Amino acid sequence: MSEAARPPEVDRAAASRKAVAARRARAGLKRDIATRVVDPQEVLRRAIADASSPAGTLRVTEFLTALPAIGKGKRDRILQELQISPVKRLGGLGARQRAELTTWLDSRFPGPQPQRRRGGLVVLAGPTAVGKGTVATHIRTHHPEVMLSISATTRAPRPGEEDGRHYYFVDDSEFDRMIADGELLEWATVHGTHRYGTPRGPIDRAISEGRPVLLEIDMQGAFQVRASEPRATLVFLLPPSWDELVNRLVGRGTEDDEERARRLRTARAELAAKGEFDHHIVNDNVEQAAQQVVDLMQA
Ligand code: 5GP
Repeated sequence: MSEAARPPEVDRAAASRKAVAARRARAGLKRDIATRVVDPQEVLRRAIADASSPAGTLRVTEFLTALPAIGKGKRDRILQELQISPVKRLGGLGARQRAELTTWLDSRFPGPQPQRRRGGLVVLAGPTAVGKGTVATHIRTHHPEVMLSISATTRAPRPGEEDGRHYYFVDDSEFDRMIADGELLEWATVHGTHRYGTPRGPIDRAISEGRPVLLEIDMQGAFQVRASEPRATLVFLLPPSWDELVNRLVGRGTEDDEERARRLRTARAELAAKGEFDHHIVNDNVEQAAQQVVDLMQA
């Protein structure tokens, strides 16, 4: 390139900053796909809507290998089957390729399939630090008609937490007694440390009075509730991105490094089970996420 044709220094610096930001955004998106924070169908939709977006500029090869359980060999077979060139970017696929890729994704990664559930009993679960507690607190404050279950736990109160308001803080022997006496609708050891459980009595009473009930519990508990109350609605709260989930966990600063690593491992496993839930709600705005939960309760 002649001196005259070369872009000025500042433009080149800006262009390279832009390229770095775009690469970073694509790397974040791949993490979201791998951790199942985002559905692959949603990524394809974003790519189609905007070919210059991180999704649109993602190579189809990278998209496929970011999917769970797809290695290079499988990726190449899929591309061959769908007649897509490996050099293509997601935003550059033709109409037939988009349609065939969508059909393949739908068969392989089916989304939530809401059944006709009873609106009255809703379980709000999701990975650690996604903000279940904040959404639940918002509902408690703004929707007094909703009965928010108060769990029993063997963990110690954090600063500011009150017994009987945030949790019933009990010791191991009291928790054993509650299990033995059948007082808990479900219970689980969460993050491999403390036990948490949902007292059955207040829920039965609220349901008999026709009040909607919300349980904010972990995934093991959610599946136990489904087993004993098949008509309960299971809602999965998703973070806007995996990186945001990690930021929230680090920012909270209530856990040490080892505990944080343990919670992130749990979060990955929990995200992998999101397909079992009736509804997915993305928590990028607490008020809107809370409203979506309440709408489901009143459905
Ligand atoms: P934290 O210790 O941060 O308050 O809560 C840790 C985890 O325990 C959260 O994921 C929360 O949803 C879960 N949890 C709270 N109460 C219950 C409960 O009654 N049953 C179950 N299974 N999990 C609970």
